[in-house]
Amino acid sequence: MKIVTTPSEMQACAREIHARGETIACVPTMGYLHEGHLSLVDRAHREADRVVLTLFVNPIQFGPGEDYEIYPRDAARDTALCEARGVDVLFMPSVKDMYAPDASVRVDESSLSKHLCGKVRPGHFNGVCTVVTKLFNATMADVAIFGQKDAQQVAVIRRMVRDLNAPIRIVASPIVREADGLAMSSRNTRLSPEERKNALGLSRGLRKAVEAYRGGETSADAIRALMKGEMEAYGLRVDYASAVDGETLEDVAVLKPGVLLAVAAYSGATRLIDNAVLS
Ligand code: AMP
Repeated sequence: MKIVTTPSEMQACAREIHARGETIACVPTMGYLHEGHLSLVDRAHREADRVVLTLFVNPIQFGPGEDYEIYPRDAARDTALCEARGVDVLFMPSVKDMYAPDASVRVDESSLSKHLCGKVRPGHFNGVCTVVTKLFNATMADVAIFGQKDAQQVAVIRRMVRDLNAPIRIVASPIVREADGLAMSSRNTRLSPEERKNALGLSRGLRKAVEAYRGGETSADAIRALMKGEMEAYGLRVDYASAVDGETLEDVAVLKPGVLLAVAAYSGATRLIDNAVLS
């Protein structure tokens, strides 16, 4: 596995790969890798000849008072996991190499970013779109793999690629869960045993909602109340319990296939998200 640390070195490496007639799949991550991230690597191998995993904790997608400083990091462990999973190139730039001190251009998505997590994380998706554009430019990837775990991120990136004619294909890969249903997340490592138990409220709320839908419930309001109630019963502080159109992320009144059920809640000080798409 090749380790690359600057965008220009990454571009040189990508040009070599393309010159051999091979395609590149990019897997953007913030590291502290778990099976969810590694499932994206597996998917990447099925989508392209070479896999580039990017590891970068992007400061500009964290708001003031969010967890940038304490975001879990372990580059040595991540490197070993990438190697073991057959990653071809690990791109791990420094903040200094990614952002000039006087950087003044950003990529802004102004519609989908207003909903769900965007309401409490102003500027977050602007930071995501900017860094993802930079990572696409650096890796020169033909395809990028994102986790459905961050459903809003997938919708925003798809919109960005469409609106900017970015020459890349976006693939969304299913959510990987712990045995008890909790969606895997680097942030789970920060939960105390009690908070870890409570965190189950997110997936349980979603599961109950999907069961109710399958049982004939079509009122979005009833489903929102059900998810919120279930999360609160687990002792979570609910940020949102939403039923939205999977593409526009606008609230819906009636449940039908394609509707995205999305939840966000705090277990202790840790903010967790999860979702399910109705089929
Ligand atoms: P992060 O490091 O949290 O920014 O995540 C990097 C990528 O991994 C994103 O595309 C996430 O959606 C994806 N991801 C994170 N957790 C999971 C999971 N449990 N299942 C599937 N994909 C995930």
